[in-house]
Amino acid sequence: MRRHPWIFAGSVAKLSGRAKPGDTVEVVSDAGKVLGRAAWSPESQIRARMWTFDADTPIDHAFFKRSIAAAVARRASHPYLRGQQGVRLIHGESDGLPGIIADRYRETVVLQLTAAGAERWREAIVTGLMQATACGNIYERSDSEVRALEGLAPRAGVLAGEMPDADLAIEEYGVVLGVDAVGGHKTGFYLDQRENRRLTRELAAGRSVLNCFCYTGGFSLQALAGGARDVLSIDSSAPALLAAQRNLARNPSLDAARAEWRDADVFTALRELKTAGRRFDLIVLDPPKFAPSAAHAQRAARAYKDINLLGFRLLNPGGILMTYSCSGGIGQELFQSIVAGAASDAGRDVQILHRLAAAPDHPIGLAFPEGEYLKGLVCCVQ
Ligand code: SAH
Repeated sequence: MRRHPWIFAGSVAKLSGRAKPGDTVEVVSDAGKVLGRAAWSPESQIRARMWTFDADTPIDHAFFKRSIAAAVARRASHPYLRGQQGVRLIHGESDGLPGIIADRYRETVVLQLTAAGAERWREAIVTGLMQATACGNIYERSDSEVRALEGLAPRAGVLAGEMPDADLAIEEYGVVLGVDAVGGHKTGFYLDQRENRRLTRELAAGRSVLNCFCYTGGFSLQALAGGARDVLSIDSSAPALLAAQRNLARNPSLDAARAEWRDADVFTALRELKTAGRRFDLIVLDPPKFAPSAAHAQRAARAYKDINLLGFRLLNPGGILMTYSCSGGIGQELFQSIVAGAASDAGRDVQILHRLAAAPDHPIGLAFPEGEYLKGLVCCVQ
């Protein structure tokens, strides 16, 4: 066994005794060797998720207290993460805690439970988080659609303390950004792009910037902070654009006159910009997950190719494309070949300057390659 945390339905020969969803089961090999303990998910194709590979470790309150404290301590020991106001404290399987996501925004922790085992241990997880962080406010955002695969209904609400502050905001590399823990995407914010937004800030000086799929304006504001000449930001969500403009107002040192916001579909808007003869020096493409799984890869590949092709066409010579995919179904190699195809169709000579991934509070378990969902390329166009 290679310490992969998932046991698929097809590899379960038999269940001895009874187990309800979320119960802890002992995992035993064909040869009768105890391999560890797992959470039972009878509704899911991922039939069990490993809590431990140690035959002697019981799964109890103390297990969660220890594992959560260890995950929090890993963040505290990393120089990029220490002192951040917004940090992912628990990143599921890659932190040895399958189905558990916990993001801290100042004194508030937003928790997302996506598997039956995590659901079963909600109370122990909340206690462990409060002990490890001294945060009094824990808010649950278990409304991700993946819960349906586990037979779990969506759930959201206060687990401890108070409702998240309506004005909750974090500072990220000098820029203040609001976090809508209750109504925003995921747990309210995309912490995974923190380091990549910082790189945008470093590359933006004097450039005319286009930020596609801008959400609440994280890349846009960092570009302005880095001295961009102007920043056009596009998103098809009106509430996200409103939040982005509120974010800009939170940062009075940034020149609001250089920011333009457009409520539009990116696929259409890129074509219109091309027709209008607009050109940019730096383009960010950070689309939503086009391919949640490998089954969607082909359609998603066409969508990635389309926006990257249009992106290359809109760049001035010497321009930079920062392009991302957060699709689990599209691997790094495939993504790079899609971007290469787009560059070739655009007739541009392109070099990769940086390969990017999620920030270090979103680690990738070496035994869990599925954890590598976010990949990015920073490309320079001749
Ligand atoms: N870059 C952002 C996160 C992007 S999330 C950050 O750093 O915070 C993806 C965004 O794409 C969402 O805000 C969603 O509203 C937007 N979106 C999805 N499909 C779109 C489309 N076809 N056109 C424009 N925006 C779209």
